[in-house]
Amino acid sequence: MKVDFRGTFQCQQCGACCQTSGWVYITACEGQRVAHFLKIDPVLFFRNFTIREDGWLLLSSPEFKPHCFLQDGVHCTIYPARPRTCRVYPMIFSDVEEYQAALTICPELRRLVKTNPEAQE
Ligand code: SF4
Ligand code: SF4
Repeated sequence: MKVDFRGTFQCQQCGACCQTSGWVYITACEGQRVAHFLKIDPVLFFRNFTIREDGWLLLSSPEFKPHCFLQDGVHCTIYPARPRTCRVYPMIFSDVEEYQAALTICPELRRLVKTNPEAQE
């Protein structure tokens, strides 16, 4: 599901999405980039900061590092190297429930929905 907005999404940098526990998917290539950003050995990075669940490589899940690389409740310490999962949030949803959940979390998404009557709700 993709929501079609006319306005521009301007992240308010509130950290609310990172404070919730969800699944943050990461590719091997993205993991290499994060390891490089953190200046640590990629092998150590994958061993200490990722987990495999049902074949998926994850940076975070409700049971594994649920708040990921969040610091002070607001700042992502790997922001320039964050994976695509984080970069597209909250613009692509797998179903309506996921969209509704994002609406309760993200103030900028709520602002856009309010100012875009044609957006799906
Ligand atoms: S990697 Fe950064 S932006 Fe992505 S969920 Fe973790 S703290 Fe948030
Ligand atoms: S909840 Fe929305 S506005 Fe806040 S940091 Fe996440 S994407 Fe940005």
